Amino acid sequence: MTQVRGRFAPSPSGRMHLGNLFSGLLAWLSVRRSGGVMVLRMEDLDPDRCRREYAEQLADDLRWLGLDWDEGYGLGGPHGPYLQSQRTELYQAAFQKLEGQGLVYPCFCTRAERLAASAPHRSDGQVIYTGKCRCLTEEEQREKSANRCPAWRLMVPDREMSFTDGLQGPYSEHLERDCGDFIVRRSDGVYAYQLAVVCDDGAMEISQVVRGRDLLDSTPRQLYLYERLGLRPPAFYHVPLLLAPDGRRLSKRERDLDMGALRRRFTPEGLTGLLAFWAGQLDKPEPAVPGELAGVFDWRKVPAGDITVLPELLEA
Ligand code: GLU
Repeated sequence: MTQVRGRFAPSPSGRMHLGNLFSGLLAWLSVRRSGGVMVLRMEDLDPDRCRREYAEQLADDLRWLGLDWDEGYGLGGPHGPYLQSQRTELYQAAFQKLEGQGLVYPCFCTRAERLAASAPHRSDGQVIYTGKCRCLTEEEQREKSANRCPAWRLMVPDREMSFTDGLQGPYSEHLERDCGDFIVRRSDGVYAYQLAVVCDDGAMEISQVVRGRDLLDSTPRQLYLYERLGLRPPAFYHVPLLLAPDGRRLSKRERDLDMGALRRRFTPEGLTGLLAFWAGQLDKPEPAVPGELAGVFDWRKVPAGDITVLPELLEA
């Protein structure tokens, strides 16, 4: 059997928080359990939000917890560079491939126009694009280009895209009805996450993607891109999100749960034990070391549904 290649691909747009760390730990445990290769890639596509010092901090926070990687940020390796901001040529080549297949078109709609269009909304609140700019003539495209830099969208077919998630089970979306034509290059020229992540996981020969459940509904779009780009898709495991007691998702806004605050409150073993408890790998939140958990890690014990984080457990 070929070796598993897994990755953790955080966005250095702020200090890492508990939710990111939970996904990162599970990705790591799964790879280490199978004796695979762990890759760390920084998804710093967005120049307005991402900073190099956040990437440094992120790597330091992972090391503090006891998570290492074999290839990637700060280490290099055969598939580098491992910062998305340095991989633009790869995304451009993929974009041109899609363009060659007649699958991308410029979209001049403003955000306000998209929101105003009576398009159905996805469950996450994103609007499904109506395809308004799909039918522009070349002349209309030229006229509009004079006033506005377009974003570029990928045309999706009238087709169901299904896969079986390692944790969430069978999942399916209709590309046209549930996703709609989606952006692969923003109007400022930055390639979109959906395109970049597929190019990178493909080029880095990633065979297993472990990430938050919030990205489950990106997967059908990504699988379509894998197909069009002739890349082999990985196996996916979408892990539960951590929720505050009021049901909100923990996010970078919760400063008291970012790694700066957590490192002041916990030891690495204390925090690992808590995360492993939530991940169903320990019966109670007791101190643990990632290397030891890896030996007994079992996907069957990981809950599929989101996890409410009780504040008293964070009072370490
Ligand atoms: N960069 C994304 C994030 O930090 C994760 C992307 C992925 O794992 O596919 O949310």
